[in-house]
Amino acid sequence: MKQPQHLEARIRELLDDPEQQDNPLHEPLLELWATHQDLARRIDRLSRISDAYQGMAKQQEQSLNERLNKQLRQLEKVARISDRYQNMMRDLNEALREASTHDALTGLANRRLLVERLKKETERHSRYRRPFSIAMLDVDHFKTINDQYGHELGDSALTEIARAMDAEVREQDVCGRWGGEEFLILMPETDVAAATRVMERVRSAIESLTIRAQVDTVTVTISIGIAEYQPGESYSTTINHADHALLVAKRGGRNQLSTTRAPRLD
Ligand code: GH3
Ligand code: MG
Ligand code: MG
Repeated sequence: MKQPQHLEARIRELLDDPEQQDNPLHEPLLELWATHQDLARRIDRLSRISDAYQGMAKQQEQSLNERLNKQLRQLEKVARISDRYQNMMRDLNEALREASTHDALTGLANRRLLVERLKKETERHSRYRRPFSIAMLDVDHFKTINDQYGHELGDSALTEIARAMDAEVREQDVCGRWGGEEFLILMPETDVAAATRVMERVRSAIESLTIRAQVDTVTVTISIGIAEYQPGESYSTTINHADHALLVAKRGGRNQLSTTRAPRLD
């Protein structure tokens, strides 16, 4: 096929040729040429418009992409912040739970947690008849320690006593601070004889503790009252029995254990 430029050049030549002026095809060719020129201009304009549209569409697509990317980055940032907040909330909840169930000074279970566990053990006993025992422990002459060495040393003595206690009891036992310088140890699956053996270990471990004061070291002892839960009674009755046994241990000269053996009903 001939090139369009080549054809156009030939037609221009024919139209310009003075010898062809009288040719009967000259006039229609001239008209055809004018129409062709007009069409060519229109096509040219249309293609320029189409190019411009394509350019605009491309620009719009680009800016849309940029906007989408920016929004994506913002969303990612929000997701990261939200993750951080969720972690913080989880840690805070954990800290709150710990604070509401544990004693701030010693880190042991607090009275609330102890009561919760005592209720559970009482329920377990009524369902499965499993024995459990509790021990009430009270530091001997603690007021004197505070008076002689100061409240701060008293606090660290309590912390060390708590640590020693917790280290001596078994995995299943719950060691808690009942209040002041008084502790309660709950021993599931334990009768009074086994509880006595565990508490003797605790008593002896505390007796061997040496607490550093400014110039010398301080030793402490503890008196312990033990009671085994009796079927049908409330856990507060068992606590009263342990408290009574504790009083007996104090009266007996301190640094010792005492047990209450209430008569079994079954
Ligand atoms: P006993 O052998 O009869 O138990 O004598 P005690 O001196 O230990 O008993 P008392 O009830 O007379 O005194 C208890 C003392 O324990 C008084 C109180 O100030 C002190 N105490 C209670 N809680 C804390 C505490 O958290 N930190 C300090 N440092 N002392 C405490
Ligand atoms: Mg006391
Ligand atoms: Mg005391």
